[in-house]
Amino acid sequence: MDKTVVIGAGFGGLALAIRLQAQGIPVLLLEQLDKPGGRAYVYQDRGFTFDAGPTVITDPTAIEALFTLAGRRMADYVDLLPVTPFYRLCWESGDVFDYANESGDLERQIAAFNPADVEGYRRFHAYSREVFNEGYLKLGTVPFLSFRDMLRAGPQLARLQAWRSVYNTVSRFIQDERLRQAFSFHTLLVGGNPFATSSVYTLIHALEREWGVWFARGGTGALVEGLVRLFQDLGGEIRLNARVTGLETEGNRVSAVKIGDAERIPVAAVASNADVVHTYEKLLGHHPVGKTRAAGLKRKRMSNSLFVLYFGLNHHHAQLAHHTVCFGPRYKALIEEIFHGATLSEDFSLYLHAPCVTDPSLAPPGCGSYYVLAPVPHLGTADLDWAIEGPRLRERIFDYLEQRYMPGLRSQLVTHRMFTPFDFRDRLGAWQGSAFSLEPTLRQSAWFRPHNRDAQIANLYLVGAGTHPGAGIPGVIGSAKATAGLMLEDLAR
Ligand SMILES: Cc1cc2nc3c(=O)[nH]c(=O)nc-3n(C[C@H](O)[C@H](O)[C@H](O)COP(=O)(O)OP(=O)(O)OC[C@H]3O[C@@H](n4cnc5c(N)ncnc54)[C@H](O)[C@@H]3O)c2cc1C
Repeated sequence: MDKTVVIGAGFGGLALAIRLQAQGIPVLLLEQLDKPGGRAYVYQDRGFTFDAGPTVITDPTAIEALFTLAGRRMADYVDLLPVTPFYRLCWESGDVFDYANESGDLERQIAAFNPADVEGYRRFHAYSREVFNEGYLKLGTVPFLSFRDMLRAGPQLARLQAWRSVYNTVSRFIQDERLRQAFSFHTLLVGGNPFATSSVYTLIHALEREWGVWFARGGTGALVEGLVRLFQDLGGEIRLNARVTGLETEGNRVSAVKIGDAERIPVAAVASNADVVHTYEKLLGHHPVGKTRAAGLKRKRMSNSLFVLYFGLNHHHAQLAHHTVCFGPRYKALIEEIFHGATLSEDFSLYLHAPCVTDPSLAPPGCGSYYVLAPVPHLGTADLDWAIEGPRLRERIFDYLEQRYMPGLRSQLVTHRMFTPFDFRDRLGAWQGSAFSLEPTLRQSAWFRPHNRDAQIANLYLVGAGTHPGAGIPGVIGSAKATAGLMLEDLAR
């Protein structure tokens, strides 16, 4: 029997492979890298473990559902640890806000910034809960295949004023600029500009309050390993170092997957977790549908890229929280430059990851493994030479962290490595080096996003950040549910 193939072992590809395998569809999962995880790759270096990408685990129920539907217990595969506070937000003025889940604690801190905003925050929370119910619980895993689906969602979107941006919406409820930043920055975690992303994304706040923020014991890589083990326990086959180089077609169907230069595997159906432009341009570029789709996608707006710096220190900075957002001197102007500027800004805002706060096993005793990231323009916005800019930015960021957050950092350095927009492009095949695929604007969401099933190539499906609903672990796991539903329906015919 011809195989069902999933290309790419990111969270989306893994979740889809598990869903299909659990329903009795034998799946071959092909991953080009030497380890699974995609953006959640893991670097091991001199006793330090560095999760390359996602660190903020939200909606554990979506992860647990993968184990439950397979008749297994998540606890037998992965241990999720709660993170408190969710984030520590710091400004250069010295202001600090511990973004936590306990209402009393949260409201006390809001009152310390601006007492009038406590009431506004409550209304904002109620609004974000409503969006969460509509946008996440009801629509997050529904494939938008026709414009009718979009029209059906229209009245809810209109009622929730989805045309407004996240920042604009937060500002309707909250006056203090620091608090506006605190409740709008989240879209940056999924590649969205808070000044352009639909207010639907305020649902992230309600989602975090509903289910908390978690971290897998052993790092996000341990969660990836748990999912791979689950897939294999169900009888699934995963091949690493298996780069798909093309999709052969017969008419409007994919007939085989090509691996490397020589291998060819006949397929019944294919789902691609690879970058959407890569999928259509590189894998299907010989077919008119591939050509048209790739050209259309290249006219869309991609999310920003990231500069990520992983470093191991012979010191544990116990003063840090697990997740810290270090706001720079500018918010709106900086974000504008990240999404539209042709150069690298003089200043930056950073996200600092200190996982040893929750799990000391990620570094040798007494040491700490860290990563810091700065959102930067993708290569289509700013055509920078990262071989030159990378080391410069690294030095600026190390100086900044040492001065403000991690005294003695340079003398404590044991190891470090960078990941730049060039790496997103060359290692992960990301168009323009985007870190999160298509920008999640209203006009690039739901039906306007590449569909979970191609409209013309009958047995080609997409899963992951480039399809509905979008980036982030809950997003791509949701996309897997939407895609699996379609595949199971089609394969049963
Ligand atoms: C630095 C960083 C931090 C982040 N932090 C968070 C966070 O804290 N919380 C959160 O929820 N989200 C976070 N995100 C977003 C989240 O990580 C991603 O949206 C999500 O992991 C993307 O998953 P995916 O399934 O789309 O696939 P990807 O992770 O992009 O994986 C796709 C896979 O396909 C493989 N592939 C590509 N082409 C081929 C080919 N031709 N043949 C074979 N294999 C191929 C790639 O090697 C890769 O393994 C972060 C992202 C980054 C980059």
